[in-house]
Amino acid sequence: MNDQNVKICARCIYDENTPQIEFDEKGVCNYCKMFDQLIEHYGTGKEKGEKEIGRIVQQIRREGHGKPYDCVIGVSGGTDSSFLLYWAVNNGLRPLAVHYDNTWNTSIATENIRKILAKLKIDLFTYVVDNKEMDDIYRAFFYADVSEIDAATDIALAEIMYRAADKHKVKYVLEGHSFMAEGITPIGRTYFDGKYIASVHKMFGKIPMKTFPNMPFWTFMKWVAFKRIKKIRPLWYIRYSKEEARKKLEKDFGWEYYGGHHLENRMTAFAHSYLLPKKFKLDYRNNSLSASVRNGIITREDAVQQYYHTEPYLEQDLLNYFMKRLNFDNAEFDKIMSMPAKNWTEYPTYKKRFERMRPFFFVLAKAHLVPMSFYMKYCFPVKQVKSR
Ligand SMILES: [Zn+2]
Repeated sequence: MNDQNVKICARCIYDENTPQIEFDEKGVCNYCKMFDQLIEHYGTGKEKGEKEIGRIVQQIRREGHGKPYDCVIGVSGGTDSSFLLYWAVNNGLRPLAVHYDNTWNTSIATENIRKILAKLKIDLFTYVVDNKEMDDIYRAFFYADVSEIDAATDIALAEIMYRAADKHKVKYVLEGHSFMAEGITPIGRTYFDGKYIASVHKMFGKIPMKTFPNMPFWTFMKWVAFKRIKKIRPLWYIRYSKEEARKKLEKDFGWEYYGGHHLENRMTAFAHSYLLPKKFKLDYRNNSLSASVRNGIITREDAVQQYYHTEPYLEQDLLNYFMKRLNFDNAEFDKIMSMPAKNWTEYPTYKKRFERMRPFFFVLAKAHLVPMSFYMKYCFPVKQVKSR
């Protein structure tokens, strides 16, 4: 890629190829503005944010009184979720850790989870999916020519966290997402819901879904509207730096860094390092690089240099692992990689239903029952989404 002919935001490194992007008269993009608005709204890293999350923590502790756990935290072995466990215990919470094992974990991730939980004395609930079934879903998404190959893991983790919370009568699920560190994924670029997973699998899958914990619409409604399990993202309120978090985890827990954003899992690594940049011209490094520029962690020039003039890091043997495990020979793999990219809009999803129910989801978002980002991204029509 080169930066000679594309218009790039004057503040971050999002360029004119970013979906839904708009630039103001100073050349600053709408995502930079959204970033400032989120900081303003949540009081991120300021007294306002610390006070608000302090109030939420007190409420979680009160409601969890007399129960074995007061919240559920999903863990991947990555930086953010590992740090969140530490933060929760440090704030007097008693989390149950939940892990969805999609059977593509790196050993570093598994070890990271073990080390942190042992030292913090946190119980772990792991759900292991049948690996043949999971691989069949991955093959289906690869054949479907869409970018969301790893969406099944995200939805499964969400479902498993709800199940674990319900089983232990816990009303709070804490998520390790940080818009400060990870940036804001452009609207309409990626999408997933339970129907999307089911429809792609129905068209291209071969093995029935028996152990895969999908989340159909009414199950989603059961968790958010009937059981009223809340979703809280503490890192949206506090001062959070991934670099400092990583250092802390390495020093205090012997935790190990895996070399890049989301690379703790082999399927995520394949998606971010190879499939997305090669087939979909999507390089998610621009999310975290833009975030780092906005936070003043790196200069815009350094970020431009990295993003436009270097390739995402690809682990040796990762492609072979993918092909061998999913039974693709070189010819078949190359054929699918060269097929035209499709968009999630070309498959059945719940998107239109979410849009029709926008006022209802606004109420749920205000009550922390769905993340505000769900409302902002899933409940409004998306303009000009096209395959590239
Ligand atoms: Zn920008």
